[in-house]
Amino acid sequence: MKKRQHVLILGGGVGGVATAVALRKSFDVTLVTESDFINYALLPKLFVENLNYLNAIIQTKILSSFGIQVYRDTISLIIPSEKKVKTKKGKLFTYDYLIIALGAEVPIAPHFWSIEGFSQFQKEAVNFKGGKLVIAVEGIPYRCPPAPFDIAYRLKRYFESKSLNVQTIILHPEAKPLIAVGEEVHKKLIQGIEREGIELKAAYHIKKIDPIERKIENESGELVNYDLLMYVPKHKAPNVVSQSELSTNDGWLNVKKNFRTEKYDDIFGVGDIIAPTLGLPMAAFLALYEAQFVSSLLTNQEPPNKAEAACPIEMGSYSFIPFCDFRSKIENGLPPKCKIIEAEQNFIGFFRNLIHQRLLSLFSGL
Ligand SMILES: Cc1cc2nc3c(=O)[nH]c(=O)nc-3n(C[C@H](O)[C@H](O)[C@H](O)COP(=O)(O)OP(=O)(O)OC[C@H]3O[C@@H](n4cnc5c(N)ncnc54)[C@H](O)[C@@H]3O)c2cc1C
Repeated sequence: MKKRQHVLILGGGVGGVATAVALRKSFDVTLVTESDFINYALLPKLFVENLNYLNAIIQTKILSSFGIQVYRDTISLIIPSEKKVKTKKGKLFTYDYLIIALGAEVPIAPHFWSIEGFSQFQKEAVNFKGGKLVIAVEGIPYRCPPAPFDIAYRLKRYFESKSLNVQTIILHPEAKPLIAVGEEVHKKLIQGIEREGIELKAAYHIKKIDPIERKIENESGELVNYDLLMYVPKHKAPNVVSQSELSTNDGWLNVKKNFRTEKYDDIFGVGDIIAPTLGLPMAAFLALYEAQFVSSLLTNQEPPNKAEAACPIEMGSYSFIPFCDFRSKIENGLPPKCKIIEAEQNFIGFFRNLIHQRLLSLFSGL
């Protein structure tokens, strides 16, 4: 009997897990990841409902039950010319195909972009007695571009429900936030923000933060005080990729439009680690699409024909879901084709549950 080829997958987030599940029937699959699966999109909900962050985590070892070899370890070196990958614990892996799905690195600060950030924000929010709530975005890229706006509204409502007086301010580096997915989406966002009495300081480039004085300063010297800060740091490429020969000048994985790396035909990228290279937003939907696309290439199947993604924006009666197909962006560098789904606030909650169910379904092998 012919020996099955070996696919090594680095990273156990949406991209890595979806690829492992899709390939497990045709290949021997090994998944190496340093943390369990995290559904970041659940973290704002867990905060406002006062629930434990553990609800956003799924143990990756569940995947062993359908034949995927799972290792908890940190990747320390990728050697493409020798088809080898080394880990911090000293294990050496070889492969026929390598899938890099290591996501993005997010410095710790009070935010909902990592579990550590969640815990820090939770601790600081306990002492908030009202006043200025500032959501400060340091730079692009960051996961789910609409999330800071959605979170600003949800936090404002949450603190108001506790009878606190809150002035909510968003600092954002872009002159026209979300313009990358069209003028219509940008306008709709601005209408919602104004309507809800949230202040937006656009084109605000943070120079420094003084956590003692609780002050933020931008490059033109404009100061913003805060009583509670949510800080969204610019995401970075994981060191193991930025220090390898596989990266672009910016450190992200250098891939072509079929997600194969520029230099090696046996190496692919999936998820947030390739988003900046292809000019895409960091989104779980796109990680799923890329996982399906790469799996179809490796199994000689028809690839999916739409690269759709959505990150819902809750904004009271202005709540909406930008829903975009990014295939034109991936294939020809053209703007994505976007629709706005106007949504009742209840529908936004329902849509978020659907996203969570879709991610959970990966762990039942669907
Ligand atoms: C608040 C919030 C809301 C969001 N809402 C949405 C939404 O509505 N819709 C949407 O589409 N997306 C949304 N997202 C974005 C989505 O969560 C990410 O795009 C998605 O998680 C990317 O998946 P990934 O597999 O590329 O990376 P990740 O999920 O980050 O997984 C990367 C994995 O690699 C592992 N890893 C990293 N470095 C190493 C190493 N050296 N060794 C071993 N393992 C390593 C990590 O531990 C992790 O398990 C949201 C994100 C946030 C923060």
